[in-house]
Amino acid sequence: MSDLVPVLQSSLTCPVCGAVTLEVMPVNACVVFYECAHCRANLRPKSGDCCVFCSYGTVPCPPIQMGGSKGACCG
Ligand SMILES: [Zn+2]
Repeated sequence: MSDLVPVLQSSLTCPVCGAVTLEVMPVNACVVFYECAHCRANLRPKSGDCCVFCSYGTVPCPPIQMGGSKGACCG
């Protein structure tokens, strides 16, 4: 069954200032650069993670939710 609907909203927690920002994730793309709206820090995914949502968000990115393995959604 491929009726799985990914969650598209994720709350990103900035590792620098701790600000939490609700962001909408693109369905088929990874977000590897994110600028914190609060402190302007440029966030990058942690090593092993494909995008900033996987590293700092409450919900992993849609390709991961759809069953992809880490890193399978980019590149
Ligand atoms: Zn910040």
